[in-house]
Amino acid sequence: MIRDSKTLSIWQDVIPFVNLNESPNENDDFDAIIIGAGITGLTTALSLQERGKKCLILEASNIGYGTTSATTAHLNTVLDTPYNAVIKGFGEDNAQLLAQGTKQAIALIKRNIDHYKINCDFEYKDGFLYAENEEQVKDLDDIYDGLQKVGLDVSPVDTIPVPVPFIKAIQFSGQAQFHPVNYLLALTEAFTEKGGIIKEHALVSKVEDKNGTQEVHTPDAVYKAASVVYATHVPPGISILSFKCAPYRTYLLGVTLNDEHQYPEALAYDCEEPYHYFRTVYLDDKKILLVGGNDHKTGHNENTEHIFTELEAYIRKHYDVRTIDYKWSSQYYESADGLPYIGKYPGGNEHLYVATGYGGNGMIFGTLAGHIIADLIITGESAYADLFAPSRLKLMASFKNMVTENADVAKHFIADRLSVEALEEFADLGKEEGRVVKYQEKQIAIYKDEYGVLKALSPVCPHAGCIVSWNSAEKSWDCPCHGARYDTDGQLLNGPSVKPLKKIDIS
Ligand SMILES: Cc1cc2nc3c(=O)[nH]c(=O)nc-3n(C[C@H](O)[C@H](O)[C@H](O)COP(=O)(O)OP(=O)(O)OC[C@H]3O[C@@H](n4cnc5c(N)ncnc54)[C@H](O)[C@@H]3O)c2cc1C
Repeated sequence: MIRDSKTLSIWQDVIPFVNLNESPNENDDFDAIIIGAGITGLTTALSLQERGKKCLILEASNIGYGTTSATTAHLNTVLDTPYNAVIKGFGEDNAQLLAQGTKQAIALIKRNIDHYKINCDFEYKDGFLYAENEEQVKDLDDIYDGLQKVGLDVSPVDTIPVPVPFIKAIQFSGQAQFHPVNYLLALTEAFTEKGGIIKEHALVSKVEDKNGTQEVHTPDAVYKAASVVYATHVPPGISILSFKCAPYRTYLLGVTLNDEHQYPEALAYDCEEPYHYFRTVYLDDKKILLVGGNDHKTGHNENTEHIFTELEAYIRKHYDVRTIDYKWSSQYYESADGLPYIGKYPGGNEHLYVATGYGGNGMIFGTLAGHIIADLIITGESAYADLFAPSRLKLMASFKNMVTENADVAKHFIADRLSVEALEEFADLGKEEGRVVKYQEKQIAIYKDEYGVLKALSPVCPHAGCIVSWNSAEKSWDCPCHGARYDTDGQLLNGPSVKPLKKIDIS
């Protein structure tokens, strides 16, 4: 299984053997076309297919190509956006509805696992959140308060499952963990067994409404459906959601420890900004500790490879590490007000749906989105429709974030064009190094591969015209504005762009 990055995640070590059924026919009329085969797309498609709808999934690459095969797969009712913040921005009733949604999502995953007899190492776990200084204690107290108000089971504790000095900590029950790719492949199998069709390597470039029928364009064919769902993690193209979702990257190491007792039998998080997250993965007889963190906005760190070194130093400070077995990074999207956008795509097309802006809780929100969107398509209603409405603009909750993120986009649009350094000689570039430079008065994104071969591209992202940045960890060109990414040949890795970077002939 490949994913949209050079580094390999712990979950990619599987050989997909799912029968994808026959190819779709352009003359078929589908009830729904779901774009994207991650947890959101598969959950949505299976939910619709189970309820008698005829569905087609169109996937740009292969099943699990996106963030679902890079996640840490913590299943949480306690979210990145604390309930005290949700209460402040959306009110206590909505915060309680949100908490109910998280519980429902874990129950839906468990229901699928039981119903389809899925072997994906699902286990209920307790969660721990701890503060390391007085400032964090204040945050932790507020979070604890919020958790109590929404009725989640939480209590103060004196011990935590990670060897990090702390001042105060809380424990919450009802969390879980699983193997995300084994789960995803089992959903795929269930979907196709029910007659659903999946077409891989089918990048959707646009969706057009033709008298109420949705025409979905791929390079080879145009498919028709009554409803279409963007389950693409971030929707392609430019819409109001481009201004309400900001791309971030986060980093993971999977390590073997010398001390068997140091592996946590729970999920744990600190209160740093960005925070570290911990879990244990059981691979046959072997245990691997996963520690993640060091998040930053996409395209905003000049030495992403060095982030792995920093994370390793952090882990070695606290753990007796035997070997580093896995290292990878991946992308997620923050919404402007901390809650995801799930429902009707903003902009007027009644038959187009979207789910995005999950932050670090996409296993939960992707699952919930599948059921919300299936409900909206089939019944036109969902208890969560207003709370997660993509068209909402909660000014109090989101205005400051939106202004900050979009000022940053504007800055990159202009400043990155002016600040390009000149490159006198291609020999100045090291092997496996990429840089955006001015060469003979032209801006180019240039990469020299391990054999010394140069690859030159236009650095202008075809999505919104920003200048891409080099990501040394993943050997990719990443757009600092909306998060589109490209490989060293300019090929698209992930949206919201749907076009490659232009090649430049420097021969
Ligand atoms: C390192 C990391 C750790 C995380 N840990 C957790 C965690 O512990 N718990 C949690 O709940 N969440 C976590 N998250 C978040 C979660 O993993 C994601 O939110 C979730 O996987 C998103 O799933 P998705 O199906 O929406 O998107 P994806 O898995 O990204 O799938 C989208 C699919 O759409 C396809 N696609 C895109 N554009 C097009 C197009 N135009 N045409 C056709 N196909 C297209 C892509 O190829 C891709 O396969 C983490 C995220 C990261 C980065």
